[in-house]
Amino acid sequence: MPRRPIVLAALAVSALGLAACGGGQANQTATSEANSANCPGDVLDVVVSVSQWGDVVQQLAGDCANVTTVINSTALDPHDYEPTTGDIASFEDADLVVVNGADYDHWASDAVANLDPAPAVVDAAEVVGVEGSHSDEEEGHSDEEGDDHGRGSVNPHLWYSPEYVQQTAQAITAELQQLSPEAADYFTQQADAFTTALEPYDQELTTLQGLAAGKTYAATETVFDYTAAAVGLTDATPEGYRDAASNESDPSPSDVAAFESALADGSIDVLVYNTQTEGSVPEQLRAAAESTGVPVVDVTESVPDGDDSFVAWQLGQLQQLADALGGGQ
Ligand SMILES: [Zn+2]
Repeated sequence: MPRRPIVLAALAVSALGLAACGGGQANQTATSEANSANCPGDVLDVVVSVSQWGDVVQQLAGDCANVTTVINSTALDPHDYEPTTGDIASFEDADLVVVNGADYDHWASDAVANLDPAPAVVDAAEVVGVEGSHSDEEEGHSDEEGDDHGRGSVNPHLWYSPEYVQQTAQAITAELQQLSPEAADYFTQQADAFTTALEPYDQELTTLQGLAAGKTYAATETVFDYTAAAVGLTDATPEGYRDAASNESDPSPSDVAAFESALADGSIDVLVYNTQTEGSVPEQLRAAAESTGVPVVDVTESVPDGDDSFVAWQLGQLQQLADALGGGQ
């Protein structure tokens, strides 16, 4: 892809880059403390890189782990995060570190790689077999700001895949059982409870599989793509725009125009809009959808502040999608 003029490149950073709304603010790390009286084995210290997995780990570990989530705020950009000295210290004390992988939170993997002795690690991308490429030769990217999503060809938003969530949860449980064997049965119970908690989410996915048959979506950003594929929606995002968005580069004016005409000509049934990456181009597309009557579904990259349950967060978005596809209420 030829390099586009620098002015457009700068525009794209503000349009598509994960704007850290509160730029430079203090760390938002959160720790949930175990009630050790309820744990039949050793209480573990678990550190999770991002909130998308933090709640899942808390549910699986229950009272047998103190779970520290390093990025627990939507105001911080997981892709470009630089860990504080406090974050590094929490990794040092960890029995287990859970990362997303696929180059999404490489800062966490880097911090762990430097530790001796190294803690146990569950890397979701390794678990599900979609490890990111570490080379950028195809796009010739440098590791500059705004180069958020495109490193390697893997979509790193693994928590949006129902299958990957299950597989990663199983790997986390297995690791917890190994680290605190006397609590193995307890962790099995926690895993069963997590499966039960996921039931409304699974049911909504099944409902959506019916509603999505023959329907298309387009997205301002790639975060929701795994879920859309899981329910059988066809991705009708115009190719030029999608390539730009997934490489965190600049959609050209003709990419944006193609998107607007697709919204206008009825080839897109729903627009998936990532509210966490607002900018002039996504806003323009949202306005185009609204003016042509294409329903808009709001999604977020990470767990919204104040919404502390993975299932509640995901379920709300799925219900919005069901409404948009005509199956609401
Ligand atoms: Zn992202």
